[in-house]
Amino acid sequence: MQVLESLESNVRSYSRSFPAIFSRARGSTMLTENGRSIIDFLSGAGALNYGHNNHAIKEAMIEYLSSDGVVHGLDLATPAKLAFLESFSSVILRSRGLQYRFQFTGPTGANAIEAALKLSRKVTGRHTIISFTNGYHGMSLGAIAASGNRFYRGAAGIPSSGVAFMPYDGYFGAAVDTADYLRKILMDESGGIDSPAAILVETVQGEGGINVASKAWLQSVQAIAHAVGALFVIDDIQMGCGRTGEFFSFEFASLFPDIVVMSKSLSGYGLPLSMLLIKEELDVWRPGEHTGTFRGNNLALVAANAAINAYWRSQAFSQSIERSGKLMRSRLQANASRHGNGFSVRGRGMALGFDCGTAELAKSISCKAFEKGLMLERCGPLDQVLKFLPALTIDAETLNRGLDIFEDTLAETMKHFKRAVN
Ligand SMILES: *Cc1c(COP(=O)(O)O)cnc(C)c1O
Repeated sequence: MQVLESLESNVRSYSRSFPAIFSRARGSTMLTENGRSIIDFLSGAGALNYGHNNHAIKEAMIEYLSSDGVVHGLDLATPAKLAFLESFSSVILRSRGLQYRFQFTGPTGANAIEAALKLSRKVTGRHTIISFTNGYHGMSLGAIAASGNRFYRGAAGIPSSGVAFMPYDGYFGAAVDTADYLRKILMDESGGIDSPAAILVETVQGEGGINVASKAWLQSVQAIAHAVGALFVIDDIQMGCGRTGEFFSFEFASLFPDIVVMSKSLSGYGLPLSMLLIKEELDVWRPGEHTGTFRGNNLALVAANAAINAYWRSQAFSQSIERSGKLMRSRLQANASRHGNGFSVRGRGMALGFDCGTAELAKSISCKAFEKGLMLERCGPLDQVLKFLPALTIDAETLNRGLDIFEDTLAETMKHFKRAVN
């Protein structure tokens, strides 16, 4: 750890919350160098929906490597790319009545967000993007401009521009429909906001605190986007690939976004792979107009193809996500009720948040849980929400064992906390 402290930049973050040297991992379990076993409820911030080193996916990758398949090919045509395009089109899109063109972008989520913003501006000839309070879209300048958090915005070093923020669903409590506000402002010729190029939204805000948008709200926002001539863009980077139960997080609301942004678990193995799904008529790029060295890495495409074939050819995977999600929710809810203290639980599918009210309490629980063998990260504007993001493939025993650790930690923390208060 001393090497880290002296050689790695001060900017490092997860290695501070979880101080250990992680040497091996499989499924939902990580092993540290000194032999500790940790249950992973962070899952690479949603990049490991199929668990660590998923063997079905790994096999396909090893086979591809052994055959000297082309790994890096810029965006040249390869059998790996063709196979991915075909499976994604038939298994994911066609069965859902969706039709899109694929744009492979640079490897990170932020790269894909930048491409989506650029394309929206190019299609509409407008510049303003509508984003939402507590939204998170990445760390490049365009993506930061669309992210709410002041800590990140401040680090950008230049003024963020081109984005207007609107209140997310529930921002003013359940009684206020913030879609009405959005509609009124955008339809008003004197509302003070330039006609937008796009409305960019997460269906569940991951980094922003596991805030859940309702079906009705999302449908309204899509309708408003169309009414004002803006593109409706869903950032499905963290909530896509099954996190909320179905492959896309917007299926439950029967949406048909103009652009869908995908990354994190797309490759299925934690390899960087990002892309946009674009409605055909919006694909106005000129050849080579938006380029990049690492677009559609073939090893990642092989892994992504294997993940689709292993998990998405039937309904069984979605059903198991629903089951595990229900189990998590009922156990978290029981804990919130048992301790009172203003605790609340929210989320969809296997993306759940346990709101502790204060950063201090959330931090103390996260630290103690790690000592007991559970990796549980925090999110939300004050880092006050514990984020439950286990691999979608986790078995019931490991899931329950992780929840047991959380439950014990919470009970102990509350005992100390009450003693300190009284
Ligand atoms: C993680 C994330 C991003 C940014 O992805 P990076 O790969 O970290 O650049 C963008 N949007 C959402 C919703 C995310 O969760």
